[in-house]
Amino acid sequence: MKIDSAVTLNNGVHIPQLGLGVYMADEGAETEYAVRAALDVGYRHIDTAKAYKNETSVGKAIRESNIPREKIFVTTKLWNPALRAGNEEEEFYGSLRSLGLDYIDLYLIHWPVREGYVRAWSVMEKLYGKGLIRSIGLSNFNPHHLDTLEQTATVTPAVNQIELHPLLTQDEVCAYFRSKNIAIEAWSPLGRGALLANPTIVRIAGEIGRTPAQVLLRWHLQRGHIVIPKSVRRERITENAALFDFALNDRQMNEISALNRNERFGPDPDNFNF
Ligand code: NAD
Repeated sequence: MKIDSAVTLNNGVHIPQLGLGVYMADEGAETEYAVRAALDVGYRHIDTAKAYKNETSVGKAIRESNIPREKIFVTTKLWNPALRAGNEEEEFYGSLRSLGLDYIDLYLIHWPVREGYVRAWSVMEKLYGKGLIRSIGLSNFNPHHLDTLEQTATVTPAVNQIELHPLLTQDEVCAYFRSKNIAIEAWSPLGRGALLANPTIVRIAGEIGRTPAQVLLRWHLQRGHIVIPKSVRRERITENAALFDFALNDRQMNEISALNRNERFGPDPDNFNF
């Protein structure tokens, strides 16, 4: 495995298993710098969203990189108000314009807004059919949301991007989506940074001479998760990609998995109000 090693999605599209997340990175110099640093280091996958308000900077850094467009995998997400207003198509074209790209590699429904996600999916299927999106997927979906979607969907979602880290391993959710051939993508893979001081993680990092962030991210990779750690600092972006010259053994993997306490840092997909 190496930095741009990919997972094959259910429609044959390849997604690099490691990407850079840019949630809470400011539009302008901060996001441009982070994306440029990641591309320099060898990342080929960037995860943004309409809601992050930095699509313009992500697109600018990608265009200015001189790396061929088809070598970079770009994810963005349809934000909740569009599902309530029913203007998903307009929102999609808005993201495309902000990014300054001709197509999106992966477009996700950001949250399962109850009154809107079934219709939103049909709009995304249409845009996918037109070739404007290479793969369409979900974020923050629980099994029952998928069951509802499946009643009318004609395209199987390619991924479900969910909060996932050792305190929230979501074993049943992962198994359910995988049984439908839907890949699992982990958001807040470092627990928003809070897991970096966890004593088990710190001890295992000491055992193998790696950093806590590397131990956490390697745990994700070995569990088959697509992973999108966020940083805007070049040294951390570099550190978070140095994951391919070591492995955790079974005992270390099991100890980390046993940290699960079903504890979220973010909102609950069955009870959110935004
Ligand atoms: P994360 O788990 O990636 O943690 C990020 C925090 O850890 C930052 O504060 C950063 O400074 C720190 N950090 C990163 N690398 C470090 C290192 N090597 N050493 C020390 N500290 C380090 O949290 P996140 O940003 O919430 O999640 C990652 C990405 O997932 C986001 O940027 C976004 O792209 C995506 N996301 C998606 C959703 C969703 O609803 N789909 C929600 C949240 C995040």
